[in-house]
Amino acid sequence: MEKWLALKVDVDTWRGTREGLPRLLNLLQRFQANATFLFSLGPDHTGRAIKRVFRKGFLQKVSRTSVLEHYGIRTLLYGTLLPGPDIGAREAQRLHEVKQAGFEVGIHCWDHIRWQDYVAHKSTDWTRREMSLAVQRFDQVFGEPARTHGAAGWQMNESAYAFEKNLGFDYASDWHAFAAGF
Ligand SMILES: [Zn+2]
Repeated sequence: MEKWLALKVDVDTWRGTREGLPRLLNLLQRFQANATFLFSLGPDHTGRAIKRVFRKGFLQKVSRTSVLEHYGIRTLLYGTLLPGPDIGAREAQRLHEVKQAGFEVGIHCWDHIRWQDYVAHKSTDWTRREMSLAVQRFDQVFGEPARTHGAAGWQMNESAYAFEKNLGFDYASDWHAFAAGF
């Protein structure tokens, strides 16, 4: 029986966009594999995740995944000691090339850290603003509306689900499986 595998690549940081993305594209093309790329389209504020240090279990995760090694020291300072670079503005050309190479592209978020950490308890206005910024930037970069949205950290709220419907995405990746006990 033929089996299909769907690959979704979430691009979270500016560094990931500049360094990881081209390498992955290269690899996928070499093996003639396809994938959907979801982009973080606004500021990279990864450094703000530093407050997770104070959350239970974070230090264990750090030691398991070697956060410093994966992200690099500069990325961990964006949004704290260094201003957060605007990924979609700086890398528009690079992002557009992903689409031109034949890969499906979509929205991951505007500001990854802000969405992942706060959306669950934020208002309709806050949510609309974040999603609108991402949608507008996507239009600018790709010259057409996004067809898919993959929520950062799989975090959502009721308004976000409503906006997803209004925005007419073909499909979305936005369900937190862990919360459902899987
Ligand atoms: Zn992500």
